[in-house]
Amino acid sequence: MSEETIWTCDRCKRTWRSSRVKNPLQRIVISSGYNHNYSPVHKYWQGDWCQECLVETGVRKPEPLPEATPSEPTRLSLEEIVREIVQEEMDNR
Ligand SMILES: [Zn+2]
Repeated sequence: MSEETIWTCDRCKRTWRSSRVKNPLQRIVISSGYNHNYSPVHKYWQGDWCQECLVETGVRKPEPLPEATPSEPTRLSLEEIVREIVQEEMDNR
């Protein structure tokens, strides 16, 4: 039995549940000041947001759309054309 993980965005409350997808959320921390060990002095808020919320609030730039790949022109084979004609003929009876 595979274990299912549920992720919930702290902002829009959308949920993802899957055992395969990796965590779709990103940790957001609002803090100020840093100690000598680079840990924040004041931590005001922390949450996990989804990609859409990060883009919506301007935290992150929208990901560029994947380049469109030209699709193969759909060309019916002779067999398919004949089958379609036969089907149409049978439907009309
Ligand atoms: Zn969200």
